[in-house]
Amino acid sequence: MTTPLLVLSNVGKTYPSGEKNTLEVLTDISLQLNAGQSVAIVGPSGSGKSTLLNIIGSLDSPSSGKVIFDSQNVAELDAKQQAALRSRKIGFVFQLHHLLPQCTVLENVLIPTLVNKENAGAEARAKKLLTEVGLADRLHYRPGQLSGGESQRVAVVRAMINNPRLLLADEPTGSLDRAGADRLTEMLINMNKNHGLTLVVVTHSVALAERMDMIYELTNGRLIRKK
Ligand code: ADP
Ligand code: MG
Repeated sequence: MTTPLLVLSNVGKTYPSGEKNTLEVLTDISLQLNAGQSVAIVGPSGSGKSTLLNIIGSLDSPSSGKVIFDSQNVAELDAKQQAALRSRKIGFVFQLHHLLPQCTVLENVLIPTLVNKENAGAEARAKKLLTEVGLADRLHYRPGQLSGGESQRVAVVRAMINNPRLLLADEPTGSLDRAGADRLTEMLINMNKNHGLTLVVVTHSVALAERMDMIYELTNGRLIRKK
């Protein structure tokens, strides 16, 4: 039996709203994910997709329920241990690439390795990954010299540089044109298939969602399996 990489058990999330009220965003969410699997989370705007992704990535904590990542109960880790877990085991990609404009492509990709002590070979790995995604001749460009699609591919490589177990992507193709979105979709699929990367992607793109092993829709705070 394989131990799942991620287990959410009865996760709920409420936000304070007004003086006495609370807004219930997530209700009793349970989800189990094995290493190497890929999942799309779809749902209307405001349904709590980013909230859920942030809880999975320990950027936010649930109001109830439990998150087990790589056999560790995330709530039992202190802030420093949670930060270490995020930087070593989880990669994040957002709708906007958030690359540092004054740094080159290669420097941007290497930023996450600066916080880890063991980063020998990081530069070689960065070059290999950038080559794999067709950016070998862009290593010394700055983000302002790249297309939106190229920038987003750099952001994915940056998220992968510490060899994470899990990649979380929040509408990664949301700011791209069709060709850029298709290319990024292929890149994510390749990382999943060739590097065994476990993938959770929040997306409005049917094309991207359909490429994942599983699709869940988030509505009224609950996850419904669609595929
Ligand atoms: P989605 O990503 O699906 O568009 P979000 O997870 O961003 O949805 O937001 C879900 C709901 O939670 C929205 O109604 C939003 O206004 C609310 N919300 C998100 N973050 C906070 C917060 N930090 N404080 C209060 N309400 C929040
Ligand atoms: Mg969102």
